[in-house]
Amino acid sequence: MLVISCIKQVPDTTQVKIDPVTNTLIRDGIPFIINPYDSHALEESLRLKDRYNMRTVALSMGPPNTVATLRKACALGVDEAILLSDRCFGGADTLATSKVLSAAIERLDRQEQVGIVFCGKQTIDGDTAQVGPGIASRLGFSQLTLVDRIESIDFLHKTIRVRRKLEGRHEIVEAPLPVMITVVRELNRPRYPTVPMRIESQETEIKVWDNSVLELDVETVGLKGSPTWVSKIFSPERDQGEIIGDGIADPVGTANLLIDRLLGKDLLAV
Ligand SMILES: Cc1cc2nc3c(=O)[nH]c(=O)nc-3n(C[C@H](O)[C@H](O)[C@H](O)COP(=O)(O)OP(=O)(O)OC[C@H]3O[C@@H](n4cnc5c(N)ncnc54)[C@H](O)[C@@H]3O)c2cc1C
Repeated sequence: MLVISCIKQVPDTTQVKIDPVTNTLIRDGIPFIINPYDSHALEESLRLKDRYNMRTVALSMGPPNTVATLRKACALGVDEAILLSDRCFGGADTLATSKVLSAAIERLDRQEQVGIVFCGKQTIDGDTAQVGPGIASRLGFSQLTLVDRIESIDFLHKTIRVRRKLEGRHEIVEAPLPVMITVVRELNRPRYPTVPMRIESQETEIKVWDNSVLELDVETVGLKGSPTWVSKIFSPERDQGEIIGDGIADPVGTANLLIDRLLGKDLLAV
């Protein structure tokens, strides 16, 4: 049974620049990383490999330079890494992104049955948490989100039991395989690549599937296939901060000043 982890390449900085014309990220010259939640998705797939000898695939949709991010997954021990890259996939919103990822998962499933698809809870750039559920609904997979523990997998009855992290409580849920799971940070502590595996990964072949492989209608992917597009991205204007009093020299006086100021702005009730 195959375990897939969907990993997105994201900017390793908050100093991203936006192209004022296309409203998309200017990717040149900025460092990229594996989306933090996806490192936990990847780690859990490797733990299932270690425990049940399941074959693991890391899947990413992105521009050609995403190969470098997938190579990091190879250095951690995934059996296969596949980049979904084609100009027609560019500018995709979450609907179009889940379309491409689902088509690739379906293609892999025809070769070897897919049991689990791991996604991160959300990305640190788009931040919508929509792609995982989009993949599950397109493929008719069970959908378990916000998972912080895998309780058990019953390969005979093809079911999985997990714990979900909700606000102030947990819930234990069981669902039939195949399943799409979105993970939170508490699920595990990602491993580090060993030096030999890092060196070996430099030689690992990373497959690149363009649309001639997935054969998707170009009107349904990328910017053309995106019902939503980011009309404007900008940093919110912040009021200039103000330093009140001197908390070191006169903590009590400063606290009183602050209270008066908050009372004056109706931000504090007495
Ligand atoms: C600032 C900004 C705002 C945006 N706002 C929107 C918006 O409001 N609506 C919209 O539809 N699109 C939006 N986008 C585009 C959106 O980022 C892309 O559609 C993206 O491919 C998927 O959405 P996401 O980043 O929100 O992913 P999420 O849904 O948050 O990602 C969840 C998980 O899905 C997997 N995943 C997501 N993208 C990929 C990928 N390319 N390859 C492999 N796995 C992946 C990862 O496991 C990830 O952890 C925005 C992009 C930016 C940069």
